[in-house]
Amino acid sequence: MPLVISIKTHSRIDMLDITPAVQEAISNSSLTDGICVVYIPHTTAGITINEGADPAVCQDIMKKLNELVPYDAGYLHLEGNSDSHIKTSIVGNSVTIFVENGRLVMGTWQKIFFCEFDGPRSRKANIKLMGS
Ligand code: ZN
Repeated sequence: MPLVISIKTHSRIDMLDITPAVQEAISNSSLTDGICVVYIPHTTAGITINEGADPAVCQDIMKKLNELVPYDAGYLHLEGNSDSHIKTSIVGNSVTIFVENGRLVMGTWQKIFFCEFDGPRSRKANIKLMGS
């Protein structure tokens, strides 16, 4: 059974820093050294790792994704959220992070961001820990 993080999003498109929740899942486990995979089981939300120090970076990413993939561009999908599906495929559904001494091994400025593209909704992230 994977560990599950529950996530509430508050707008249609958003990037939420879930690094503390992922670290908490590791801290509550017996894993010391290994691999952490965070997998998003949704078709209109994804995950990415990028700079968390300056919030303008996430704002720029979302702005550019909206420019590249506008809400309405003559898509075929009848549900009306094709832009959300396309943005999800661009950012991807999982990240893999090394774990050493019970801590995520990440760059100084890196954070793990849950990427909402069709919110607000209740979402989840599945975590699988491998190692010893
Ligand atoms: Zn859809």
